[in-house]
Amino acid sequence: MVKIITDYGFCFGVNYAIEKLIETGKKTSRVYLTHPLIHNVPENERLMKLGNASFYEKGLTMDKKDAVVLSAHGHTLEEEAIFQGKCEIVDATCPLIIQRYLKVMKEDKDISYIFLGKKNHQETLGFLSHFPYFDLVDSTLDLKAQLDQIPLKKKCVFIPQTTVSKSSWLAVKDYLEKHTTLVQVMDICPLYAKRSAQAIQAIKDLDPQTNYFIVCGDETSSNAKEIYHAMALANPNLKGTIALDSSCLDFNELKNKDIYIASATSVNKETVEKLKADLELAI
Ligand code: SF4
Repeated sequence: MVKIITDYGFCFGVNYAIEKLIETGKKTSRVYLTHPLIHNVPENERLMKLGNASFYEKGLTMDKKDAVVLSAHGHTLEEEAIFQGKCEIVDATCPLIIQRYLKVMKEDKDISYIFLGKKNHQETLGFLSHFPYFDLVDSTLDLKAQLDQIPLKKKCVFIPQTTVSKSSWLAVKDYLEKHTTLVQVMDICPLYAKRSAQAIQAIKDLDPQTNYFIVCGDETSSNAKEIYHAMALANPNLKGTIALDSSCLDFNELKNKDIYIASATSVNKETVEKLKADLELAI
């Protein structure tokens, strides 16, 4: 049996960024990206062809008729400044991320500001560039050790990257509630959180001898890795992997097992359905 256990297909923000790229490609002769639009290498390549886009290279001469499309996860102010006045700037940042920017409390010397995220992720870099008064807590390192180093004031604002794990978000929130008063807290992205919760619920009680899980996603995708880790944590003996298609799977490992597929947010519906169909044929 092969079963898809989460919502699947592109999330709202990825669809939004794709529409921006395709729209721009239709009306502009040269379209550039500074980073992959979404974290899915083959899909990004396909979209770049569709949107008639190429990667911007430093020193390239831009024309007012050209356009640059800035990534779905956000961008730094420095990156935006490179293109100011030189070409059309198309901001493809997910509207959920933009909404958060609009709500973040302004700097106040009596408040501590904490951002939880992956240090080099595009969303983290973009956020910290817009709000440099935040201290970064890297979600891939020891959270308590980092928080212990930050001299917290009586009040604190806590914002996470949209796709960190719910468990790391909770750990930081718990710590801050014990050491300060939270005057503003934002949650992780509800669409990603829903997929993660669906995946955990479906596999947490499965017998590791007779079951296997796959997160359909690209190795470069932060949310694919987070969903994988959340599933591995929920059922530590259950084997699983991240894969975009069946070509990189070890079929010996899958033999006589039921397979549960969760979907990352930067994978289209057809890819998830094809993975399911290929597995059904192969096992
Ligand atoms: S996962 Fe959420 S925040 Fe990230 S692009 Fe998708 S909808 Fe936006």
